[in-house]
Amino acid sequence: MTRLLLIGTPGAGKGTQAARLAEAFGIPAISTGDIFRANVKNETELGRQAKAFMDRGEYVPDTLTNALVRDRLSQEDAKNGFLLDGYPRTADQVTELDHILAEQGEALDAVVQLTADTDEVVRRLLNRAIEQGRADDTEEVIRHRLDVYEEQTAPLIEVYSARNLVREVDGLGAVADVTERILSALK
Ligand code: AMP
Repeated sequence: MTRLLLIGTPGAGKGTQAARLAEAFGIPAISTGDIFRANVKNETELGRQAKAFMDRGEYVPDTLTNALVRDRLSQEDAKNGFLLDGYPRTADQVTELDHILAEQGEALDAVVQLTADTDEVVRRLLNRAIEQGRADDTEEVIRHRLDVYEEQTAPLIEVYSARNLVREVDGLGAVADVTERILSALK
């Protein structure tokens, strides 16, 4: 299992699990959210363009996001596999990822869908707001991000289910238990 996607609502624990899975499989965890945040922090042109969308809890436009992922996947450390965390999130991004992989003669091995109920997710994100001070972790923006996920990203599960790639995993519980669940779902 070397070419993986992690899909789930904001606050489902994707980032935490992505780091652990990447370690277990010896592949890079690639989080578009982390890359955007690093660009905002370093005040790059991409960061400047992405920031307004991120602060509102909107998706960054596909053209920017797709270019970023295409560039990242072309790097040497992603040649033998990768775990994409938080990409693709729109139908257009699914199409772009299909193109990128087809050009390299590669295909996805699995899509891990991490589930968590809404109240728990909002609670976790409000906690993270206190701990990390993320600009997009206010309650209003959190609710909006959940709506955007439902509207634009949840339908992608169907697309990947039709390709028999989806492994649904309960994201609630201790971090290590969730990792174990994911690893056994991928066996
Ligand atoms: P995350 O850390 O994955 O929750 O991402 C934080 C924010 O970055 C999102 O709310 C979006 O504004 C932006 N972002 C991250 N990944 C994507 C993506 N695949 N498509 C569009 N916007 C994204």
